[in-house]
Amino acid sequence: MCRRSYGSILACYCNKTFDCNVNMLTGAYDRASHYCRKRTQFNRPIASFQLVQERLVRVLGLVQAAFLTILHIAQSMDMNTSNMGHIALSKAWCSRAARDGVALCREIMGGNGIVMDFGVAKAFADAEALYTYEGTYDINVLIAGRKATGINAIDN
Ligand SMILES: Cc1cc2nc3c(=O)[nH]c(=O)nc-3n(C[C@H](O)[C@H](O)[C@H](O)COP(=O)(O)OP(=O)(O)OC[C@H]3O[C@@H](n4cnc5c(N)ncnc54)[C@H](O)[C@@H]3O)c2cc1C
Repeated sequence: MCRRSYGSILACYCNKTFDCNVNMLTGAYDRASHYCRKRTQFNRPIASFQLVQERLVRVLGLVQAAFLTILHIAQSMDMNTSNMGHIALSKAWCSRAARDGVALCREIMGGNGIVMDFGVAKAFADAEALYTYEGTYDINVLIAGRKATGINAIDN
């Protein structure tokens, strides 16, 4: 029989959402980064173009920020210092970062970013689901907004 409390099950779901977002984004970054070193256009690997490097670094920044956000929220949950506002803000931000970052990876890979053979198109579709399940991005933002302002914008 399951003896876990509803709260601990919710926390578990929460951790899973964080994991999914950061793992998906990291995986998409790895694939895009590998791809753009191999793919040549104008006789050069596309990784040598400044615009491609700018996108790659933007994704890397999102990976780093999402990882640190998750680390911080996990530590606060361990110390019982987190609240719904912190958790909702982190969930909203990580799902947004994953969605934006995976879209950039797809863009870096050009046409091959939208076919199934290279993995990033699947991550792109998965990012859409993560943006919505366990409360949409909007609702998580509104929970954080309620905590920040003391005003409930969800249900007036
Ligand atoms: C892959 C996947 C797996 C899922 N797994 C589960 C699961 O295991 N268990 C479970 O219970 N559910 C699950 N869901 C359902 C998920 O939690 C809901 O889809 C989600 O909460 C949105 O609810 P809804 O689809 O009814 O949209 P709605 O509530 O109709 O929302 C539609 C839009 O309106 C916005 N909106 C709604 N109310 C407000 C408001 N007051 N202010 C501003 N904007 C608002 C929403 O943010 C959204 O953009 C899953 C969904 C997906 C995609």
